Amino acid sequence: MDVDQTLVEEWPYAYVLHADESDDHCSYCLVKKEESLLQSCSKCQFARYCNKECQRKAWPDHKKECSYLHKHKPFVPSDTTRLMARVLFKLMKGEKGDKEKIWSKRNFDDLMTHTKDIKERNYSAYGLFENTLTELRKYVGLPLEDAAFAFEVFGAISTNRNSIRSIQSSAHASGLYLGFSALDHSCDPDVWSAFDGPNLLLRTTKPNLTLNTNLKISYIEPFDFTSERRTKLQENYYFTCNCDKCTDLNWDRLLLSVKCSKCQDVAFISKDMENEAICQNNECKSNFNAYDAVRLMQEIGRRNISTDFSLENTKWAVSMLDSIETLLSDANLFAYHLRNVARAFLGWRQNEHKKSIKLALQARDIALKYFPGYKNQPLDFMIFAYEMALRQDDKDLKKSIASQTIALLEKTYGTEHCEVRFLEDKMKKLLSLNLLVL
Ligand SMILES: [Zn+2]
Ligand SMILES: [Zn+2]
Ligand SMILES: [Zn+2]
Ligand SMILES: [Zn+2]
Repeated sequence: MDVDQTLVEEWPYAYVLHADESDDHCSYCLVKKEESLLQSCSKCQFARYCNKECQRKAWPDHKKECSYLHKHKPFVPSDTTRLMARVLFKLMKGEKGDKEKIWSKRNFDDLMTHTKDIKERNYSAYGLFENTLTELRKYVGLPLEDAAFAFEVFGAISTNRNSIRSIQSSAHASGLYLGFSALDHSCDPDVWSAFDGPNLLLRTTKPNLTLNTNLKISYIEPFDFTSERRTKLQENYYFTCNCDKCTDLNWDRLLLSVKCSKCQDVAFISKDMENEAICQNNECKSNFNAYDAVRLMQEIGRRNISTDFSLENTKWAVSMLDSIETLLSDANLFAYHLRNVARAFLGWRQNEHKKSIKLALQARDIALKYFPGYKNQPLDFMIFAYEMALRQDDKDLKKSIASQTIALLEKTYGTEHCEVRFLEDKMKKLLSLNLLVL
């Protein structure tokens, strides 16, 4: 079996659309629509739906919540409280999930809760629990003696909840998937979770895989050095990652690699002398002075370029693009973050659409080559390029970008995906109109 196949689909045990998205998304199928095209629930006025069909399907999960939302109007509890309430309502009815119907044969009782870890070392998660408990008491009148039970449920949710994203927007809903929660983490994942509305599609990133609970998925993004990835995993998931990536010393050396001054291939900074680099191409193998490259990485690090998007930093990032190209390898993580900052600034702020498209396509190729397990990222770059292409006049470029976007959409999410079909229709229409109407 090839890569980019769907191994299994899974509907969440419970999920909520985030409250700040509820004006222009259907609460059931999570599709984005203009507010005027959605129908509000007549009782709570909070949930909105595409049509009667979506409302009808949502009702079993919305019914109880609806009366509480109605009662406390206009107060809407936090997303975590609403998700937790939905889970509690289900558990109170004895609905723990049907092991026979779930591909990994799990139900709610099989979820890891990490309550001890949360209480003893994750203060922000414990604080969130206390706030959630307060809200739950106010919102659904949870009895005081149920605090311990609520903590177990909170632990299960906070350890296992998934951000649900659409192709075009980042996390806009949260869900709990019982089958999927069986999968452990690796920084070199076999599968990833694509979403089609609330439906989770478990899709392969490597060939010849079959559905089983030993498949590995990544809980975090890969664009960090090993120590940073391990810290994130330890803080949020309470384990030390010993995956192939985390134990391969050359992986970090690649993420810090520079460009060979002779053959332009990847060169590693020497272990003993930090200003010297050694080309990794066996036909070249040259040693050279990497002082400028090391200094540049230090400066990018000092500026916290991946998190500090101040005007000073973004302008500086644009001014450094040529130096990055000359000095650092494509796999270099500092270069990766700097290019992203520069790309967004050039595209959205400076109207330098062609330059930003070029950077987006380069970033797409780098992501595909070095981080093949992270399928959203290259597609995000491609969709950015498409957005930029719409804003400039070169018809051939538009055409080329649109068809590359369609190809990558289909490869990443499959051709059956609702949003893929919607986006493709939109793009093909633009192509057939010769892109005159934008
Ligand atoms: Zn809908
Ligand atoms: Zn309602
Ligand atoms: Zn790892
Ligand atoms: Zn070389």
